[in-house]
Amino acid sequence: MDHILEHFRQTDALLDGHFLLSSGLHSPNYLQCALALQEPYDAERFGRAIADNFRELEIHTVASPAIGGLVIGFAVAQALDVRFIWTERQEGVMTLRRGFTLKPGEKILVVEDVITTGGSTRECIAALESNGGNVVAAASIIDRSNGVADVGVPRIALVKMDVPTYQPDSCPLCAGGDVAYKPGSRK
Ligand SMILES: [Zn+2]
Repeated sequence: MDHILEHFRQTDALLDGHFLLSSGLHSPNYLQCALALQEPYDAERFGRAIADNFRELEIHTVASPAIGGLVIGFAVAQALDVRFIWTERQEGVMTLRRGFTLKPGEKILVVEDVITTGGSTRECIAALESNGGNVVAAASIIDRSNGVADVGVPRIALVKMDVPTYQPDSCPLCAGGDVAYKPGSRK
């Protein structure tokens, strides 16, 4: 799916350089998925590409962890013609709010924009299951773990990539004399 990464680069959703991440780590890449989904046409086609993997599963509902998963989750739900709900953090805990309810055994697909460690997908799944949902699969546009992240259910990604991160004192880009910068602080 090289054309997806090309689209990410064209929209500055994927940057190449030497970045200081909010975690304090350095990386040669920076990903901001929201920029790739600004045009409904693009969100719609990525949503359809994800949905095409799940047409046999008779999914009842697509759910996403807010905020990152909202646009692509909605697009997948639209492509599958099923309802869309989301979980969100309340005092740090991923929760099903806003009056959303689940029927016992309801088959749910969890959709995120990017999976890095799988943490927010796992938290979203836990919140849905504690409300009676049956999460049968998960999906994302990008898998930054290159297939490694385990979310406890089968999952797919449109693009798998390995984004290296480095401690500042062992960063090869720093060793080459370059200075890391925060994404967005220079072009
Ligand atoms: Zn560095």
